[in-house]
Amino acid sequence: MSLSVAIIGSGPAAFYTADALVKSDNDCRIDIIERLPCPYGLIRFGVAPDHEKTKNVMRAFAKTAAHEDVNYYGNVEVGRDIGLNEIREMYDAVVLAVGAGSDRAVGIPGEDKKGVFGSATFVNWYNGHPDRRDLNPDLNVGAAVVLGNGNVAIDVARVLVKTPAEMAATDLPDYAAQPIQNAPLTDVYMVGRRGPNEAKYTNVELREMGHLENCVPQIDAAQLPESVEGEMSDRDRRLAKKNLATVREFVDRNADEKPKRVHFVYYAQPVEILGDDRVTGVRFERTEVRDGRAVGLGEFFEIPCGLVIAAIGYISRPVADTPFDERGGIVENDDGRVDTGLYAVGWIKRGPSGVIGTNKPDGKLAAEQIFTDHGAGGGKSGRAALEALLAERGVRAVNLSEWQTIEAAEIANAREGAPRKKFVSVAEMLAALG
Ligand SMILES: Cc1cc2nc3c(=O)[nH]c(=O)nc-3n(C[C@H](O)[C@H](O)[C@H](O)COP(=O)(O)OP(=O)(O)OC[C@H]3O[C@@H](n4cnc5c(N)ncnc54)[C@H](O)[C@@H]3O)c2cc1C
Repeated sequence: MSLSVAIIGSGPAAFYTADALVKSDNDCRIDIIERLPCPYGLIRFGVAPDHEKTKNVMRAFAKTAAHEDVNYYGNVEVGRDIGLNEIREMYDAVVLAVGAGSDRAVGIPGEDKKGVFGSATFVNWYNGHPDRRDLNPDLNVGAAVVLGNGNVAIDVARVLVKTPAEMAATDLPDYAAQPIQNAPLTDVYMVGRRGPNEAKYTNVELREMGHLENCVPQIDAAQLPESVEGEMSDRDRRLAKKNLATVREFVDRNADEKPKRVHFVYYAQPVEILGDDRVTGVRFERTEVRDGRAVGLGEFFEIPCGLVIAAIGYISRPVADTPFDERGGIVENDDGRVDTGLYAVGWIKRGPSGVIGTNKPDGKLAAEQIFTDHGAGGGKSGRAALEALLAERGVRAVNLSEWQTIEAAEIANAREGAPRKKFVSVAEMLAALG
């Protein structure tokens, strides 16, 4: 009898796992269970709308989804429609691939004020996630602060300042495009606790900030270190050197060259969000880096702004019936093994770091662990039991061909040049199925 494997979630980690399983010589059937009708996790709801090429990996994942040994069950949420323990009873092996979809708190006074958002929330909003489409942020502001020094911070800053023409060939939903593009925003401050050498953004994303149609990067030369120093891997050193060279090019850019500016501010940690009900600014403490850590220097300054996006990290929500590491924001696991027959991959396993491809080794390892632990054969009924239970509970699962119908409608509805027009609610997706 073939081995029955359930994968919970349908982001990169889930698909890399499914791919490793189907490419093995073992006989197994894989069911991917996703809470939304649409697959692909943060590829759809995280990756910036103007970076469509990054999403090309969806094509490879679509092939895996169409493999004869793989079934897709969209619109089925584990914890809502079916319990994890129920799935574990049905399947020989269960892989948690639920990602890290929540914002890590900044942990400073005032972060609950209006106009302060975590990047998970804000990015989901401009990417048309059904949970966040009603966020309705007030973008009637002249200045915004983006906390963080990684690619997500750069994505947010860039999406806020790009012109309608620059965003025309994207799937940015109209409800987000209008307030973003009508906003009187002229200045975005990207503030990092440490310096350019420690910044986590990749060089391509950083360089792009120097080539925007309506926006010029600004940087204070005094903030730039002479060279790249300190303990780091060769790879990190190469990246840091490239980044330092890029930010040096930004130093002489004229502030009036274009109507908008993105200010790169380093060595500053937020200590308080200012304002009454709404944010009016952020108070920062200057820092210096000691042994790789930002240490406060007791000198303070403020940046007035009407919008704050904290791009400082993501955490997973605890998964019911599994041990959870609250501090790390991940499921407790021993290199992916959570419990007998239960595995974790991707951000729920490792925390929120790395690019799409970083999840690939997790999938390969989980497949190896599953075959090591279970041998080639399985004994549980898997798919038949799942389908019976979903039918009994009246759960409207979306299968692969139905998702393909939804996707085809999104492509057909796209404005010229755009890849798709996303349906932004579950009801709209289901309505597309007639
Ligand atoms: C804003 C942002 C931008 C990014 N941009 C890039 C980029 O440009 N290039 C790049 O290489 N990487 C990028 N990344 C990183 C990349 O997206 C991640 O490495 C990757 O998505 C993590 O994969 P995952 O499968 O662990 O999680 P996710 O992609 O988050 O997938 C988790 C899936 O599980 C589902 N799920 C959650 N709970 C349940 C449940 N209870 N039941 C069923 N399903 C559930 C979710 O709906 C989701 O589909 C970006 C990340 C972010 C946050």
